[in-house]
Amino acid sequence: MLEHIAARIATLEESATLQMAALVRELKAKGEDIIDLTLGEPDFDTPIHIKEAAKQAIDQGITKYTPVAGFLELRKSIVEKLKRDNQIEYTPDQIVVSTGAKQSIANVVMSVLNPGEEVIIPAPYWVSYSAISHLAEAKVVTIQSSVEAEYKITAAQLEQAITPKTRLFIFSSPCNPTGSVYTKEELEALAVVFRKHPNIIILADEIYEYINFTGAHCSIATLEGMYDRTVIVNGFSKGFAMTGWRLGYIAAPLWVAKACVKMQGQFTSGTCSITQMAGEAAMRGDMQATKDMCAQYLKRRDVVYAKLKEMQGVKVNLPTGAFYFFTDISSFFGKKNGATLIQNSSDMSMYLLADAKVSTVSGDAFGDGNCIRFSYATSEDKLMLAMDRIAESLAKLS
Ligand code: PMP
Ligand code: GLU
Repeated sequence: MLEHIAARIATLEESATLQMAALVRELKAKGEDIIDLTLGEPDFDTPIHIKEAAKQAIDQGITKYTPVAGFLELRKSIVEKLKRDNQIEYTPDQIVVSTGAKQSIANVVMSVLNPGEEVIIPAPYWVSYSAISHLAEAKVVTIQSSVEAEYKITAAQLEQAITPKTRLFIFSSPCNPTGSVYTKEELEALAVVFRKHPNIIILADEIYEYINFTGAHCSIATLEGMYDRTVIVNGFSKGFAMTGWRLGYIAAPLWVAKACVKMQGQFTSGTCSITQMAGEAAMRGDMQATKDMCAQYLKRRDVVYAKLKEMQGVKVNLPTGAFYFFTDISSFFGKKNGATLIQNSSDMSMYLLADAKVSTVSGDAFGDGNCIRFSYATSEDKLMLAMDRIAESLAKLS
């Protein structure tokens, strides 16, 4: 039979994070000793009270289809969380629960962008923002930031990127892949620009909210005039170590929420009933486990940062949130180890996989080809060993 793949899929970039994760899984299955720093995935187990809630849900027979937007009680618990942690008032019909923040982002992008409309994405960005925007046939406009600017964009850069076709702005803070956190003042500077352009919707991806070492998470939705045009995306994968449960949500203006319900109603329906019951327990339960995990990430960040600072030719910012380092390794471009020539970030990522047996993700997938990303959501021992191996492999390049 003739293979006939639709153009939208044939031209769709494969998720670089998931692609590398699959390769590492394969290598490990063959017995290779790889230290896996690929995925942004907490190495901690889901807190017990959340797992217990899921077991209870099964025992109580909560196993049927759910409302498309999610159980009302779960949405109410999310409303309570948004008030408690973010000081923002929502009603349950402004909340749409999904099968992960990734699906929430897809719902929003598909719901608000027409083909040819523009979406501004500060780079480095999380891989799926651009791929999903391309699926919606939107034009992606990136704003480049640099390690010197702690990978944050300025109001002037934002102003310059806006055109009459701009419809959406997508960013994450704390940021994947850079770990940068926008302060309230920095967000206010961006809000000044947005106020002049009332047609732009802001998608604020706050999935790393609880992995923030600055002590203060600020949502842009709290700033004057921003509430009615901001869609907050959040999820349970990171803060509650629930990557496999698949649970995310939006808090949005009602018209966006309604559009997302319509979209989700045709694509996937309401997400897993058992996961939703677990999610409610996470929202209403003790936050100590989340705080403890954050404290561990901070410890790991410090030890890894110290190691990276010692490596010749590596430029790195001090991340203030999430659990990634996005390191500039461009000074090695043009260098060789034997027959292996490093010409770009992809070459570097593959070289480190082959020579250091450490897996990373190439920065070009995140919109910055000078860098590689690695996650430090793994044990300190493994991280130390990985840093030693990377340092050794880099030192062999000349
Ligand atoms: N946004 C960002 C910035 C992410 O890093 C991720 C990856 N976990 C997601 C969204 C998607 O998360 P989820 O597991 O909830 O789909
Ligand atoms: N978001 C995580 C990451 O950036 C998980 C992988 C993915 O969902 O793409 O590594």
